Amino acid sequence: MTTAIQESKTAEHLRIADQYGAHNYHPLPVIIESGSGCWVTDVEGNKYLDMLAAYSALNFGYSHERLITAATKQLNKVTLTSRAFHNDQLGPFCQELSELTGFEAVLPMNSGAEAVETAIKCARKWGYTKKGVEANKAQILCAKGNFHGRTVTIVGFSSDDQYREGFGPFPPGFPTVEFGNAEALEKAIKPNTVGFLVEPIQAESGILVPPDGYMAKVREICTKHNILLIADEIQTGLCRTGDRFAWQHDDAPPDIMCLGKALGGGVLPISAIVASHEVMGVFKPGDHGSTFGGNPLACAVARVAIDMIKNDGLDKRAKELGAHFRSKLQAVGAPAVKEIRGRGLLIGVEIKPNYPKARWFCEKFMEQGILCKDAHEDVIRFAPPLVIDQKEIDWALDRIGPVLQSAEPVP
Ligand SMILES: *Cc1c(COP(=O)(O)O)cnc(C)c1O
Repeated sequence: MTTAIQESKTAEHLRIADQYGAHNYHPLPVIIESGSGCWVTDVEGNKYLDMLAAYSALNFGYSHERLITAATKQLNKVTLTSRAFHNDQLGPFCQELSELTGFEAVLPMNSGAEAVETAIKCARKWGYTKKGVEANKAQILCAKGNFHGRTVTIVGFSSDDQYREGFGPFPPGFPTVEFGNAEALEKAIKPNTVGFLVEPIQAESGILVPPDGYMAKVREICTKHNILLIADEIQTGLCRTGDRFAWQHDDAPPDIMCLGKALGGGVLPISAIVASHEVMGVFKPGDHGSTFGGNPLACAVARVAIDMIKNDGLDKRAKELGAHFRSKLQAVGAPAVKEIRGRGLLIGVEIKPNYPKARWFCEKFMEQGILCKDAHEDVIRFAPPLVIDQKEIDWALDRIGPVLQSAEPVP
């Protein structure tokens, strides 16, 4: 399990990536060559247990046989038609996602950020055409600490200075309110407010779980003031938090739900928004689109992902294994740990400020054969593929515990 970043292959890959790639990321120095189940192998032949799962895009793990078979079959038939024509995967994909989510209508895109952009356009047009908001005055409230992607519009309402700095000017119309505080939301609503965009659990902000009942109150307030509740379930959806969708925890169905990441089975990018016909109906031919959105290759893979979400009991698995994982982490009793939180298999370990940064821990875990990622500076995030089993979690805990224990306060 020892890493060997000095060895030739890894060093060469790091040098080439550094020389020719943009420096918009700071990845751990591991060069992955293949993956199977919850495990990856690097170019030196070292194996690692993946506890990030590509930010929940790999809920089904690596190289899942059903997904690879569907992809291969579709690769040999047709991969892209554009939306100028129909294809035989798109309709069934929409039907199956509608049945999975309980929403009437589906609009497919590619990335998560595009799904959020689509939801924003949908809510604004709904505001003008259905709610009667004055032209170009619509406001969508967002939560402080949000993460919804990296487009200019979306980073414009981020609370993270680095996400915005150097990228303005930004589109107006996205005031922010405190996350987890339903009263603050209600106070901020104006006659021109058309929606509230929120993650049921803020993952990128450090696995921030709002108080119980928050989403239910949010649902109530949105209904009362006739604004659309837009849930970004791109990371929390599709069984990650122990429910099929995180909003189910509070029984707070949104008006628009954004999905992405695991929808493509970790094989291809595909995202979508789902909504009622009434809301989705604001889109007329020519209003919105994407060349690759709804392509038959991504749809064919997503249909298998949808089937597995429906039938494989991953929600129950995430709930049980997540509870086990959290209680074992708690039992370590490491002095460096401020708080352990999360839901299902979306787990955050917050490190006290006078200890090394979360990144330091991730580097130590990597030396032990475990890959994970910090969320902000002080939170270690554990979000393994949902197909992980208890033996693998216990294997990881045997290594995580001593690393947590070994951290010394920094002067
Ligand atoms: C990852 C993520 C996005 C953005 O998805 P991309 O596919 O990276 O554009 C949006 N919202 C949430 C909650 C996410 O976790």
